[in-house]
Amino acid sequence: MSASDFQPLQGMSDLGFPEILLWQRLEAQARDVLSSYGFQEVRTPVLERTSVFVRSLGEGTDVVQKEMYTFEDRGGRSVSLRPEGTAGTIRHICAGGPDLQDARLFYFGPMFRCERPQAGRKRQFHQLGVEVVGPALAMADAECIALQTDLLKAWGLVDFRVEVHTRGLPEDAVAVRDGLIGALAPVRDRLCEDCRRRMDTHPLRILDCKQESCRALLDGVPPITSFMGEAARTYLDQVLRLLERSGIPARLNPRLVRGLDYYLHTIWEVTHTALGAQDALAGGGRYRISVGGREVEGVGFAIGIERVVAALVQRGLDPASLRVPPQVWLVALGDAAREECFLLAHALRSEGWRVGMDLAGRSMKAQMRAAHRAGAPLVVIRGETELQEGVAVIKSMADGRERRVPASGLAAALRA
Ligand code: AMP
Repeated sequence: MSASDFQPLQGMSDLGFPEILLWQRLEAQARDVLSSYGFQEVRTPVLERTSVFVRSLGEGTDVVQKEMYTFEDRGGRSVSLRPEGTAGTIRHICAGGPDLQDARLFYFGPMFRCERPQAGRKRQFHQLGVEVVGPALAMADAECIALQTDLLKAWGLVDFRVEVHTRGLPEDAVAVRDGLIGALAPVRDRLCEDCRRRMDTHPLRILDCKQESCRALLDGVPPITSFMGEAARTYLDQVLRLLERSGIPARLNPRLVRGLDYYLHTIWEVTHTALGAQDALAGGGRYRISVGGREVEGVGFAIGIERVVAALVQRGLDPASLRVPPQVWLVALGDAAREECFLLAHALRSEGWRVGMDLAGRSMKAQMRAAHRAGAPLVVIRGETELQEGVAVIKSMADGRERRVPASGLAAALRA
């Protein structure tokens, strides 16, 4: 067996001690915040019919065209590992889950995208996401952004930026496209090769081109909101006003576009300064999705958990510091005492104590070392003599002080 036989697939990771402690904490804190907003959890399968994603995300999107893990199952049906959580959640709602107009759902789980792995970009990564189903309301969008910033704050993140923009309404799409192409036509030859191609395929994507030369050319182009109708602009203003009045530091980014076809009205992205090139922490937007002939409108977001973890670790958080040590460690000398300690551990645990002990019958020194490594503040020592006398010795690891107590009153003595 070579070393690589023990590694997960490229772009995928095991999650274990100590990082897992941070993940568990993030999840617990998120549940508190989400319940204060009245959200219920949903767990949909990670594998779905490919059509669930193709229909809702859009045939031409990068995710569908290049990044999905798609294969035929043994029955010859095309299935895909979910690349995001919205499509499955909406499918669940349409399948007769919660009431279509009032659904407030969240999910937490793995997503799969077959991208080129690099720092901050994985093939299996995790998202916490929410979906709020209902018609377009600026207040619903602002509430969603407020929830997202509350989550990030609850996790202890501070240096994040929220950037908001609008995709306008579907009826604005042609005017936006034509307006943008018209404004860029005089400088077409000076755009990068990718952007020249985007002029014909996906002109909106020119707005977030990373090339300095393209960015400079875009400075001379009117904001795309100027090509939209009044309704889209008013809606965006309402969202921004609500955020401002709620004290949420969001700013308008007229260059923001998001990759998926299903967005309309508000879109947003959250970035974090500690993350380097892949600085997107989360994204969200209002969407209209068609699932099985049904149109569903809603608003939602997804936060990349690996990136939240990376940002927190960057800020100096050590996941190992979140370990919860045993409250007491049982040290036994001799087989009879070991069996008594085994029973005692069971009794104490059923009363709610966190108890550790070495089952292998190692030396006293080795057992004390194990207690120290585990970080137990108290040790209970029992040997042949203590067994015969019906007592136990409680030792404090902090100052080495020892106390002999009757075995029958051990739990009470530990509590004291
Ligand atoms: P998206 O669904 O593409 O809007 O992604 C939402 C968030 O998920 C992003 O802001 C990232 O934090 C995270 N994310 C997306 N793709 C990846 C990936 N390949 N690896 C790690 N995190 C990702």
